Amino acid sequence: MVRIGRRRRAPAPDAPHVVVVGAGFAGLATLRALGRSGLRATLVDRNIYSTFQPLLYQVATGGLNPGDVAYPVRSFTGKHGVRFRRGELAGVDTAARTVSLADGGRLGYDYLVIATGVSAAYFGIEGGEKYSRALYTRRDAISLRDHLMAALEEMSIASEPAELVITVVGGGATGVEVAGTLAELRNIALAAAFPEVHRAQVQIRLVELGPALIPPFDTSLRDYAYRQLEKRGVDVRLGTTIREVTPDSVIVADGQSLHSDLTVWAAGVSAPAAAAHWGLPQGRGGRIVVGPDLRVKGQDRIFAVGDIAIAENDPAPQLAQPALQEGRHAARQITRLAAGQPTEPFRYHDKGIMATIGRRSAVVELPHRIRFGGTLAWLAWLALHIVELLGNRNRFSTLLNLSWRYLTWARGGGLIVGDDPPEEG
Ligand SMILES: Cc1cc2nc3c(=O)[nH]c(=O)nc-3n(C[C@H](O)[C@H](O)[C@H](O)COP(=O)(O)OP(=O)(O)OC[C@H]3O[C@@H](n4cnc5c(N)ncnc54)[C@H](O)[C@@H]3O)c2cc1C
Repeated sequence: MVRIGRRRRAPAPDAPHVVVVGAGFAGLATLRALGRSGLRATLVDRNIYSTFQPLLYQVATGGLNPGDVAYPVRSFTGKHGVRFRRGELAGVDTAARTVSLADGGRLGYDYLVIATGVSAAYFGIEGGEKYSRALYTRRDAISLRDHLMAALEEMSIASEPAELVITVVGGGATGVEVAGTLAELRNIALAAAFPEVHRAQVQIRLVELGPALIPPFDTSLRDYAYRQLEKRGVDVRLGTTIREVTPDSVIVADGQSLHSDLTVWAAGVSAPAAAAHWGLPQGRGGRIVVGPDLRVKGQDRIFAVGDIAIAENDPAPQLAQPALQEGRHAARQITRLAAGQPTEPFRYHDKGIMATIGRRSAVVELPHRIRFGGTLAWLAWLALHIVELLGNRNRFSTLLNLSWRYLTWARGGGLIVGDDPPEEG
């Protein structure tokens, strides 16, 4: 009999083999829920760590160490009796039931779960990918931090006072938290970290195409986020479309060129271009189209979960909660299929949304129209994000580094620094 539980029991050598591609929220939730199912499982990821994306902006702004948001995949697989294979998904042969990896490797599966997440979308905007910095991976966050610190370092030795203009493109939750945190870095930490640079020399601009920030939230919370950013000295420009990005500017729809030394791209996501070679049906934004039970359209042994999946009639938001719930659902359906039972449809249980703007400022929207902003929302946001991190060492180091950040920056507490960014060709 196939069962679901927390701890995996050793599967029989001839038990059906589940291959899960992607060690993010959705992939790990799938494996956790497979638990005592008795199925063999292999996790594939291109990295040897799982990234906690919601705190990447803290790495990018010198508040957290990169290791705080990265959990070693083998710590997870060892604990759950799962095999790990590092590799990048290159294709799926549905007839032979194999996945091929970019390094030439091949893995057979009885059930396959695609949980690869998405990456930054540039919507064909000229220079967007080349001249802006995304914030989707740990490498992105380190690169943004290093470029930011190098620019401030350069300003601190310049013979004439120079200025640094940072443009954040996109007024969703990521854009708002990046702009808010950059403003705090300038307003609070700069004086001690770079005493030669005056805060007036650093400008932070947030550009949003739509008429409001953080669109999924209620109007009262959107307005709150706007006021909080303005209070922190962020130049918020709503209804502004970026037409082109150059090495030192962003050009908006009416042709006006706005100087920008550092452009951060937080304007949207889509499936990576490589997904076109996987041989699976793609929908809006290149995401893999799934049916009501989360099986890929036209496939009876392949599931897609998390950000990469899109249900045709009822798309779930691209957030951690849907990814976790979808991962657990896919695991349950695989166990049902392996036991000869029919699948069940997925239903998303909305537990609410939250976003942070900066110290003592966040917005929370829960079911039943419960909405609040301010310090309480910020504390709830902080607590949830620390609890959600994988591994006690990461929780402890994040708690320590964030406490250090929020309690000492104003009194000269140091930023976390890196090296000069490598020269770019
Ligand atoms: C900066 C930022 C802040 C965010 N903040 C929040 C927040 O506050 N709250 C919230 O709910 N959500 C937030 N999100 C969204 C949330 O992180 C995603 O919805 C969630 O990570 C999706 O989980 P996933 O498992 O689908 O994908 P991911 O977590 O992206 O995991 C995908 C995994 O697949 C691997 N992978 C990718 N391609 C391949 C390949 N070809 N082969 C092998 N492995 C591959 C990756 O290395 C990664 O480990 C944020 C996202 C970002 C980028």
